[in-house]
Amino acid sequence: MSGKVYIVGGGPGAADLLTVRAATLLRAAEVVLHDDLVPQEILDLCPASAQVIDVGKRCGQRSRSQEQINALMVWHARETEAQTIVRLKSGDPAVFGRLGEELDALRRAGIEFEIVPGITAVSAAAASAGITLTDRRAASALVVVTAHNCRNESLSKTVEPVRSTYALYMPGPDYSKTVQGLLESGHKPTTPCAVVSNAGRKNEEVRYLTLQELASAKGISAPAVLIVGEVARERSSIRAEHLPVISSIARDPYRYDEFQVSQHGTD
Ligand code: SAH
Repeated sequence: MSGKVYIVGGGPGAADLLTVRAATLLRAAEVVLHDDLVPQEILDLCPASAQVIDVGKRCGQRSRSQEQINALMVWHARETEAQTIVRLKSGDPAVFGRLGEELDALRRAGIEFEIVPGITAVSAAAASAGITLTDRRAASALVVVTAHNCRNESLSKTVEPVRSTYALYMPGPDYSKTVQGLLESGHKPTTPCAVVSNAGRKNEEVRYLTLQELASAKGISAPAVLIVGEVARERSSIRAEHLPVISSIARDPYRYDEFQVSQHGTD
């Protein structure tokens, strides 16, 4: 009987940001094929008997081709005794994870599979930076884009700055080029942005800048996500005395509920 392939999202890289389902599958895995953004503390969940294979491919380094990775999944499921094969990816498998190609290969080979979602980098980045990605006062859309697409298309072709928050994956290492693309698409040099490196991990780092400042920023560690738009304006600079006075209704939220209920009742 063929094994089953679980394509699992490993989240942003902290073991406690894995889903319970992902952790359960890793503990039961016989074979794990993982990307190199997945840290050791997550791989440590796999049983000692599991065959754990790094199939990571990072820019500039020798690595396995997508075809080889597809072939490895199919081979382990079809030609070995293994019943539980985990294809572990960082973040969510459906976000810049080449999921489509891997699903095509499994479908073609008639291998059973299941996809387990994970926390994608921008969710972790927004949490670390205290950003509301779709704050209704500033954004009605969240657009997820890559600064490095396989068609080598300029960023200005994929973004249009209208009441939207842009989440840019793979924004480096040439931030000046990324900024140039954003400016060409109509963003202002003063547009706020937040660049979050290693989101959700112990070594995470958040910087709030304008696009103009980002163009010449130095020492931004990878992996990083760039959040661009009004929602990324740093809030911590708002001093307490500038915040609105709390109304008496807000001080007594239960009275507020009664107020709402009776108002609706008279409609
Ligand atoms: N499937 C993944 C994305 C893989 S593409 C997901 O859903 O998150 C790799 C890119 O993801 C990196 O170049 C970086 O832009 C982003 N990324 C992944 N993990 C990250 C982290 N912990 N902090 C910031 N960015 C991260």
